[in-house]
Amino acid sequence: MIPMDTLFKKLIQAIGEDPNRNGLKHTPKRAADALQFLTSGYDQDLTKIVNGALFPTDTDGMIIVKDIECYSLCEHHLLPFVGKVHVGYIPNKKIIGLSKIPRIIDMYARRLQVQERLGQQICDALQLILKPVGVGVMIEASHFCMMMRGVEKQHSIAVTSHVAGSFKRDARTRQEFLELIRR
Ligand SMILES: [Zn+2]
Repeated sequence: MIPMDTLFKKLIQAIGEDPNRNGLKHTPKRAADALQFLTSGYDQDLTKIVNGALFPTDTDGMIIVKDIECYSLCEHHLLPFVGKVHVGYIPNKKIIGLSKIPRIIDMYARRLQVQERLGQQICDALQLILKPVGVGVMIEASHFCMMMRGVEKQHSIAVTSHVAGSFKRDARTRQEFLELIRR
């Protein structure tokens, strides 16, 4: 495989720039490091991230973690989409360490993505680990491919929602989720 920094050097040339000029000399290496980090989610593993941080509980109340920052790359344009993820679930005898939820989000966000699939994968992962009574994931994100190019709409936000279990079956539960994340 051709190393990423060699490819970035060629890309800079294809843009019509001189990759050897002072400001760009170290750019291929830096850009490669950045892209490697932004796609590091492929090398991660759900079980390793959770690392046993599941705890027994008696509560059947809804647990919400909201406004989790999320940075991902749109797979159609390789441009960022950034926003917030809101997660809610009703436990079924076990809860997950709160800090694990953002780490699960990052694992899927640091890949080439579409927002719709990202939400589904987060929802499926929580289903798998927690087997909860119900779970919901909402993402609100701005897409740079819409803001900087194409339709050039800077203020539109894409909202996606994925629900399972009682969040899907029961309109009141879903309503409670929406109210809690809007607060
Ligand atoms: Zn795009």
